[in-house]
Amino acid sequence: MGASEQQDERSIVWLDIDNTLYSASAGISHAMGERIHAYFVGLGLPDDEASKLHHRYYSQYGLAIRGLVRHHQIDPLDFDRKCDGSLPLEELLKPDPVLRKLLEDIDRTKVRVWGLTNAYYTHANRVLRILGVDDLVENVVFCDYSNPDFNCKPEPEFFQNAMKIAGVTDPSQCYFIDDSLNNVKAARALGWDHCVHFCERGLLHVEGGKPKYIGSDSQDSVADDGIAVITKLDELRTVWPEIFKQ
Ligand SMILES: [Mg+2]
Repeated sequence: MGASEQQDERSIVWLDIDNTLYSASAGISHAMGERIHAYFVGLGLPDDEASKLHHRYYSQYGLAIRGLVRHHQIDPLDFDRKCDGSLPLEELLKPDPVLRKLLEDIDRTKVRVWGLTNAYYTHANRVLRILGVDDLVENVVFCDYSNPDFNCKPEPEFFQNAMKIAGVTDPSQCYFIDDSLNNVKAARALGWDHCVHFCERGLLHVEGGKPKYIGSDSQDSVADDGIAVITKLDELRTVWPEIFKQ
């Protein structure tokens, strides 16, 4: 950004995309888990070893692909095409007027609204388009699989780089919602002041290839560090009233 460009003084809302802007009940994590498993098996790993490694990499790195690149030298773009790229998203998702209204009601004179995703930009943009909100999310900071040394949530560098891209210097200006408690905690630890954990408690989804009941590893309404926990996106109106049109 050139010195002549004016600094954007507005705060910024960072939206996780997968399993946050749509419900885990869409079944996308299940379809994704199957594809990632097939990818591990395609590397020549036996079935049980594939499951074990898939879950280990997810837990350790926040993303299976991070471990695959690090330990198996796979081509992340090939992985993206075969996993996210082959998801039948048009069958699993549809335009969401409630989400659209929520994003429309955010006061853009006060905040910018950006995506912050561990997916590659192709998948992120596809999801936003199908949900019918691509025009309401100004920019997406994504996981750059084309760089072999890419960062992802919950690594601090990923959040710091996102701030740099957006030209934000004060972490207390950051609003953030994510369905991963690890991601939210990592952002909170960097001083992101307005963190929300989106937790569809009790719903069954797939995490690192394993079925899991959402929320089984966290307490109810308030997580650590005053992180708010919500089960419906519309509750953001109550949690962040200052960023909505009056
Ligand atoms: Mg997510």
